[in-house]
Amino acid sequence: MRLSQSFGKTLREDPADADTNSHRLLVKAGFINQLFAGVYSYLPLALKSLKKIENIIREEMDLAGAQEILLPTLQPEDIWQKSGRLDAFGDTLFRLKDRRDRDLVLGPTHEEVVSQLVTGHIRSYRDLPVNLYQIQTKLRDEARPRAGLIRVREFAMKDAYSFHADQNDLDKTYDRMVRAYRSIFARCGLNVRAVEADSGAIGGKDSQEFILLADTGEDEIVLCDSCDYAANMEKAESNIDNIIDDSKDGLKEIETPGVKTIDALSKKFGVSKSKILKSVAYIVEGTMVLVMIRGDLDVNETKLSNYLGAQDLRIASDVELKERGLVPGFMSPVGLDGVRIVADPSIDAQTDLIVGANKEDYHYTGARHKVDFLIEELVDLNRVQQGDKCIKCGGSLKIERGIEVGHVFKLGTKFSDTFGATFLDSDGIEKSMIMGCYGIGVGRILGAIVESNHDEKGIVFPKTISPAQIIIVALNNDDITVRDAANQLYETLVERGIETILDDRDESPGVKFADADLIGIPVRATVSARSLRNGNTVEMKKRTDANNESINISLDDVKTIIETII
Ligand SMILES: [Zn+2]
Repeated sequence: MRLSQSFGKTLREDPADADTNSHRLLVKAGFINQLFAGVYSYLPLALKSLKKIENIIREEMDLAGAQEILLPTLQPEDIWQKSGRLDAFGDTLFRLKDRRDRDLVLGPTHEEVVSQLVTGHIRSYRDLPVNLYQIQTKLRDEARPRAGLIRVREFAMKDAYSFHADQNDLDKTYDRMVRAYRSIFARCGLNVRAVEADSGAIGGKDSQEFILLADTGEDEIVLCDSCDYAANMEKAESNIDNIIDDSKDGLKEIETPGVKTIDALSKKFGVSKSKILKSVAYIVEGTMVLVMIRGDLDVNETKLSNYLGAQDLRIASDVELKERGLVPGFMSPVGLDGVRIVADPSIDAQTDLIVGANKEDYHYTGARHKVDFLIEELVDLNRVQQGDKCIKCGGSLKIERGIEVGHVFKLGTKFSDTFGATFLDSDGIEKSMIMGCYGIGVGRILGAIVESNHDEKGIVFPKTISPAQIIIVALNNDDITVRDAANQLYETLVERGIETILDDRDESPGVKFADADLIGIPVRATVSARSLRNGNTVEMKKRTDANNESINISLDDVKTIIETII
């Protein structure tokens, strides 16, 4: 690639709208161009890197025994109706009509299509397992596209779907795919953590996310500092010490004018927040649900919506509370009727609690679960906090941010049941296939690579993903001997199969060096009048070398030049 002729220009200034380093650098280095919010054109340099990521994914998928197929983007809406995911995806789904007024969607994922596909092709347990994958464009109408390639509305994704006769067989393939994923990320130069995850709108039970730890990531990850426990915040659990004491003062109504918050109550009574009952009222798909948790803990809304099987959940307004006879700031489970209550097991403490009296300016002290009130629905709703105890080893948990770059699920028979994806087992009995699914965002990997591999000058590509292996910078391009020597080296390297960029533009040395650093090619070779005078050499330098140390190699010694690159 000759930069003088290549399409796509580097920018001198940072793009104004960039909200992360990868977004800023990919735009500035001329890799991507935004058409409109969350939709990008990929220019030649980006496409070279994306193809490399795709090739690594293909190699690892093929090694894991998956077969490549290609499924359609355009899908009939009725299969989404059938799977019940029309609502689960909601506004994220791009919907349209064809000329016959048929409702269609643009595929955000392909469980429905692939389940329908295998239904017609698999008859017997002998046909199983199958593991199918594709690298295909997904469309999702994200509410908040951001961070360049990290959250976009149109993107290439590798998605794989496996079908099995029994759980054991799914487990084997799942483990094999996890190994393949680890290998893919390692080859892409990404240091990724596998964490327990919530399966969200995709459905299913066991699932793991692959997370690149990064301060700019939108996912919160909970990690143990003494064992390998790692989970997405949406799923993470911690060990909560139960508080047990012998105080049995009995229920007493106390006047608490204007004292409405856990903090204020804790101050007024001089007790720790853990001795206060926290009540949060939600409107869940139109119905009120009161959630109770110990005062020092917070509600994890993902756990709550999963437990309730609800898509739509929000905090109730004071007006809605009053309509149902609840007093904001003084809500209470004591004597409450007609409102569903769900509580975290932390409230099941053998201790007196301070709770609202459901009366303006009054609280109860001495309230005990199963004595003064009874909540039957107890389920883990606790949102893990920094320093909580690990559920596995008791060690200390920390919270970090990260970017999700891959996700694997054990789906079970949810889709197979819906689409009649059945097979005859060895006894001739018809059973539903057990399914797994496995996703990786190709563009997001590129974004994540830049997010974790850059310095103040620009991108620092790992060799495996770099658009080229070497960039030749011809200084003083108007000097014919320099131009010829640089050209000669470029042609020699290209002939030897080395991916090479030649900066043959009429730009100053400063601009050329800055651009070489910005684009992030692993090795820079500078040909100048000085290097030619200095024994007819080229000056070679690694992008990763912060000290700018270079070595001079004779232009005749092509073997050493290539060894230095590789
Ligand atoms: Zn631990």
